[in-house]
Amino acid sequence: MKIPKGFRFGGVACGLKPSRRDLALVVSDHPAAAAGLFTKNKAAAAPIQDARPRVPAEGMRAIVANSGNANALTGPAGLDDVAVIRAAVADALGVQKRAVLTASTGVIGARLPAMKIVTALPALVEQLGDHADLAAEAIMTTDTRPKMAAREVTLGGKTAIVSAICKGSGMLAPQLATTMCLVATDAAVTPKVLQEVLARAAEKTLNMVSVDGETSTNDCVLVLANGLAGNPRISEPGPDLSVLETALSDLLGEMARAMAADGEGATKMMEVVVTGAPTEAIARECALAITSSPLVKAAVFGADPNWGRILSTVGARAGARDWPVDPFKAKVVLQGVTVFTDGAPVELDRESLRTKMRETRVDVLVALGQGEGRAVAWGCDLSYDYVKINADYTSLIYQKADGGVARDDRVSHYTPAIKKALLAEALKYIAAFSGQIAVIKYGGAAMVKESLKEAFAEDVTLLKKVGLKPVVVHGGAPEITRTLEKLGERSEFFDGMRVTDAQSLPVVEMVLTGKVNQELVALLNARNAGAVGLSGKDGKLFRAEKAAHESGRDLGHVGHVVEVNTDFLRMFLDGGYVPVISPIGLSEGGGSLSVNADEVAAAIAVALGAKKLIYLTDVSGILESAPDGELVRQLTSEDLSRRVEAGAITGGMKWKAQSILAALSGGVERVHVLDGRQPHTVIAELFTDRGVGSLVQKGASP
Ligand code: ADP
Ligand code: MG
Repeated sequence: MKIPKGFRFGGVACGLKPSRRDLALVVSDHPAAAAGLFTKNKAAAAPIQDARPRVPAEGMRAIVANSGNANALTGPAGLDDVAVIRAAVADALGVQKRAVLTASTGVIGARLPAMKIVTALPALVEQLGDHADLAAEAIMTTDTRPKMAAREVTLGGKTAIVSAICKGSGMLAPQLATTMCLVATDAAVTPKVLQEVLARAAEKTLNMVSVDGETSTNDCVLVLANGLAGNPRISEPGPDLSVLETALSDLLGEMARAMAADGEGATKMMEVVVTGAPTEAIARECALAITSSPLVKAAVFGADPNWGRILSTVGARAGARDWPVDPFKAKVVLQGVTVFTDGAPVELDRESLRTKMRETRVDVLVALGQGEGRAVAWGCDLSYDYVKINADYTSLIYQKADGGVARDDRVSHYTPAIKKALLAEALKYIAAFSGQIAVIKYGGAAMVKESLKEAFAEDVTLLKKVGLKPVVVHGGAPEITRTLEKLGERSEFFDGMRVTDAQSLPVVEMVLTGKVNQELVALLNARNAGAVGLSGKDGKLFRAEKAAHESGRDLGHVGHVVEVNTDFLRMFLDGGYVPVISPIGLSEGGGSLSVNADEVAAAIAVALGAKKLIYLTDVSGILESAPDGELVRQLTSEDLSRRVEAGAITGGMKWKAQSILAALSGGVERVHVLDGRQPHTVIAELFTDRGVGSLVQKGASP
């Protein structure tokens, strides 16, 4: 994140939480104009009571913020504790007490152990620097990821930065402000104007987020503007003020969406747009009512296109508030599909809409057609996890070794009915698959993101433990590109294939066989999967022949598989090992050839007589068209070739399609193309009745 001039950030663990960062400090080295917005909750926390009457103001220097304890409903001691903290921060920084603002978030009703904060201050001050990430982490509560962003603007010819860190998660329904959001900017602006800009920017952003309709005791947005950008100080409306307001609105909009997407238990973000309302106020209230409706939220969680609940919410609110709004005149659009218009439901393909609702973002549009009022609100779905987290907060959010928090998703937390259904369904497949070989091509985001790597390793280990024989073939495109870049070499792609010249071949081989392969083997063996790392050269696992593109373009040291040493592979499978294969083939002359991993996976699946071949990729499966087309859930080999010929499948997916066709004609029964960006898609696809990606089977089009 870009850091505004003259600001320093830090975040440490002071012991309010068992082992995580919980204390953040934002310091301006120059006196700053300050503004703030605060919760409307009358049970406001002590830091709110302390800060509210002190902004807008000049001369502010620091904001100290803690998580783990809200210092709310703590009696007169609460304000004493704020005073102690302000004095200690002022002392540590050599500034006046009046120049320090505080904010807290966390458990309500427990006295804040201020001494823990005081004791940690020297280390925190020592650490101060461009550590906005540590500060953002320190204010997290049940958030699963830190939230921060910045914008760069030009004001009076000078470059200024506006940055924000914020936390969201639960108890999120704004009344003038929301959650904890700390904004720092080096723009020069008067406190009065800053306050006005902030109020306007928050109105359409932070104030339009609802996770659970609960306004917290600690919501606050604090802004410091130290003027070091050197622009003429903004004191009245004009072009500079507009630029600043646009940047701040945009930034807070990003924070709002980040909070909605990471709401407690959320699996999806919901964006609700209401247009054509008699007034903007009605549009806003209507949009928030929809994002806050437990019925709408539960339907979104279940990917149920139950639009009736949306219109019912509109009607109920219109009735209760006596708005001149007629729901029968409204048009309702869900994920781009019109579901209600001209006073009647639209005939539609529910299955297709249901598939669209599985996306991680759900868009709702209600066009009332009764005026000019428009508003956008953000929220999230209501999942089992929301109840789990808030029914048993402490046991379901756990701390990871790296200090972050994660949700404990074990099935044991679900109701007995769900557990039984899930297990019965899974066991049926487990019994059917036992002893079968499944070849898995591992690629895309699943190879890069830490949590996805771990989920993948868990899945492969599980498959093996339930009797399947997994074989993993991996790619490594992003890693190769990164390494080549580091070495100052460019990656050239032609029709979705990497051109590999003599110089880059050793790099490609080193990354694939030396690094990616070994890391994956280590990850699997940490779970006792019995993984063995191999390349095509080991035991002549597969031989390759130089390939040329159909256009005649020379692709360099790129090859096709010509022969697989099945005896060698079977030896590992029979011994209970999981082969992990790097897509480097042995050439005729004993050298190396880089082979598309999709092709290697298909060739190995055919050679081993595997029943299943699974591709993990960066899209939800085979799409009608890339990148935004609908997911094709099931298709035949004939369908697939038709789509390739029609030009609907291009780039990397075209190569995958060719490999899939080769695998099916070689005897593989089922090929799955799955979304590797979601954890555990492999087991979700294999062990449940309704798959999650695309399934391709041999055959003619119906
Ligand atoms: P991988 O790492 O899985 O090999 P690729 O980038 O090689 O990923 O191949 C997948 C890409 O193919 C997708 O990200 C998408 O951009 C592209 N693509 C082109 N047409 C389609 C389609 N019809 N369906 C899905 N993906 C497609
Ligand atoms: Mg590819």
